[in-house]
Amino acid sequence: MEEVLRLTNVNKSFGEHHVLHDVSFAAGRGELIGYIGPNGSGKSTTVKLMLGILGGYTGTIEVFGKNIEEDLVSYKRKIGYVPEILSLYESLTGEEYISFLSSVYELSNWRGRMEELAEIFQINDALTTRISGYSKGMKQKIAIIGSLIHNPDILFLDEPLNGMDTNSVAVFKEVLKTLTKQGKTIFYSSHIMEVVEQMSSRVILLKDGAVIADSTVEELKNNSKGSSMEDIFNDL
Ligand code: ADP
Ligand code: MG
Repeated sequence: MEEVLRLTNVNKSFGEHHVLHDVSFAAGRGELIGYIGPNGSGKSTTVKLMLGILGGYTGTIEVFGKNIEEDLVSYKRKIGYVPEILSLYESLTGEEYISFLSSVYELSNWRGRMEELAEIFQINDALTTRISGYSKGMKQKIAIIGSLIHNPDILFLDEPLNGMDTNSVAVFKEVLKTLTKQGKTIFYSSHIMEVVEQMSSRVILLKDGAVIADSTVEELKNNSKGSSMEDIFNDL
């Protein structure tokens, strides 16, 4: 499997607070990595470091064998991101929002891609109405469409299921499957174990800023004497 992402001995502190301790892991092409840990364990901090938007760390973050710090501008074109707390331009319509993002990425042919994604997520009818009127799940969907509009190699999703109804979760799972089949690497932090369990090629468990397990769901369960993922999470 082609290696896409590698973190080596990453440490990050905020003042006196040492948040990440020698975090190391790698991800391959087409993998969906579930990044699991209790609140405050350092998941979002890891994601922000991998996005290249948070500095002041030690260790290395490499993508396709190259340190991301070497050329952050072209690196950022290769990644997509859906933050834990959405910050959308709510006075825009869905289409205006995607149009705006496309101009940031200097894309000329984005409409077809937007329509294709909107079709999959079943929100094409909402593209011409303002985001302020969307349900939480619809906001999540338009954010995900926005994160994919420039066709990134890696997608970082920080708690992506917030506010999604059951049907939307099912659609979302299909989209993730399609994306990994297309060779995209998905880094997915969540506390909803069910989806992580079904979708992840690998799970990484984070506790107090340290990686305490990195294996397939199967291996993790076997090592924990067959507990469910839910039990494993609750025991963290
Ligand atoms: P998680 O996403 O797993 O809930 P975070 O990465 O958000 O955890 O936070 C890990 C720890 O780092 C928490 O104790 C949090 O308060 C602290 N932290 C995160 N971001 C900052 C920041 N910008 N300044 C100071 N402390 C921070
Ligand atoms: Mg978080």
